[in-house]
Amino acid sequence: MDPKPVRTRFAPSPTGRMHLGSARSALYPFLLARRTGGTFILRIEDTDQKRFVPGAEQELIDGLHWLGINYDEGPDVGGPCGPYRQTERREIYHEYAWKLVELGHAFPCFCTPDRLDKVRQEQMKNKQNPRYDGACRNLNPDEGRRRAASGEKVVIRFKMPKEGSITTTDLLRGPSTTENSALDDSVLLKSDGLPTYHLAAMVDDHLMEITHVIRGSEWLPSLPLHTHIIRAFGWEEPQFVHLSVFLKPSGKGKMSKREAAEAIQDGHSIYVSEMQSLGYIPEGVLNWIALMGWGVSEGDVLTLDDMIARFDIHNLTPSPAAMNFAKLDHFNATHIRLLRTDDLAARVKPYFLREGLAVDDAKLLKIIPLIRERLVTLDDSLPFAAWFFKETVEPKPADLVAKNLTAAQSADVARKAYEILAALSEITPAVAEPPLRLLVEQLGLSPNQVFGILRVAVTGQTVSPPLFESMEIVGKEKVLERVKKAIKVLEST
Ligand code: GLU
Repeated sequence: MDPKPVRTRFAPSPTGRMHLGSARSALYPFLLARRTGGTFILRIEDTDQKRFVPGAEQELIDGLHWLGINYDEGPDVGGPCGPYRQTERREIYHEYAWKLVELGHAFPCFCTPDRLDKVRQEQMKNKQNPRYDGACRNLNPDEGRRRAASGEKVVIRFKMPKEGSITTTDLLRGPSTTENSALDDSVLLKSDGLPTYHLAAMVDDHLMEITHVIRGSEWLPSLPLHTHIIRAFGWEEPQFVHLSVFLKPSGKGKMSKREAAEAIQDGHSIYVSEMQSLGYIPEGVLNWIALMGWGVSEGDVLTLDDMIARFDIHNLTPSPAAMNFAKLDHFNATHIRLLRTDDLAARVKPYFLREGLAVDDAKLLKIIPLIRERLVTLDDSLPFAAWFFKETVEPKPADLVAKNLTAAQSADVARKAYEILAALSEITPAVAEPPLRLLVEQLGLSPNQVFGILRVAVTGQTVSPPLFESMEIVGKEKVLERVKKAIKVLEST
């Protein structure tokens, strides 16, 4: 492990919803920064105006906060290398693009889209790879500057060497050599004055002193161009890590919008904000995404602190990872069980409030230990425990009838149970369970038959947390009231 403090960044484009891929692209550089006592930066890459989505930046910021991936520098917190939103750095890119022209590694290009289109079509007809044909490569730079200054539409292109090759290195994949003849004179500065990703990211990574660029594997094919740009400026090269892609649950092909929509049908989602409302907790989500691309050898249940302590960039893997939602459920349930009672209570409370229920905090604290083991997501607490916060419950008459008994026989059982409960000093498991078990024996019935009637009477449902503990929380008065009501229902069934 390199003990030197690193500087890393998460550089999302605000072009859509924040999904798990973005969360993972943020998590690893964050972990590396924290592991080494370094700095983690949020940079908003918003130079593609056509794909800009209003609100997307806020969603990213909210998502990072929710996950606990905190950044040291960023658009809303500032820092020494700002601004951290690329559209606010136009002049910087302009300056560096023309600097590259001066250095002889870039050139202004005045070709019209029409001409470029014709060239492309000609190349396709001849079965050549479409690329820039070099028409403006040898323009005199002074003349270029003058024409651009006079308002002529201009882009700046990288002047890719015609000969030779370039060797690039991805930390996970090792070195790779590319012939320069296979590379294009890519656009660095567009005619709207904004940079392309290629220029903006290289300039920013340099000025922000990024030591490790951790990004999606879709950028791997651009690494030769990026390395060319960095070397043309004579800058130090950061370490590059390209993360594996996410595959759909079947493992066949990349996750598409359609699969994302299908996932939501069965209570899953790839979008961070949706996972939150589906009842996933950040600990579960983080654990799940962390292991999709990071080979951890022992014990896979990790908190963010565990991850920071154990993170090693060399253990990231370039092989694609299939999204396994069952694993997400497993991690979420596991981390829910690890939460302190008061913490879990605070987290499930909004789900009850969302249903319009009035939540009594003291009661909720007593309920949590009864349901904790059964929760996969926070909203699973509703089917188990929402009834606790209702004034009355409305059991279905048919549910009150015990298996193999008639309604009249069930009413009789309920009456006997009522008498026992009414005579008790209090209803706690220790006080109420022994006499009711005795009743089961005396009647020659099964516990399921007797307790089933009581469960439905008191909770209004056939599945609930443990009966005696639940009755204790409900309180003697209400328990008796509900059993009495159930007897009436059974008598008239
Ligand atoms: N804005 C780029 C994207 O969202 C960033 C890639 C990078 O991390 O450099 O794909």
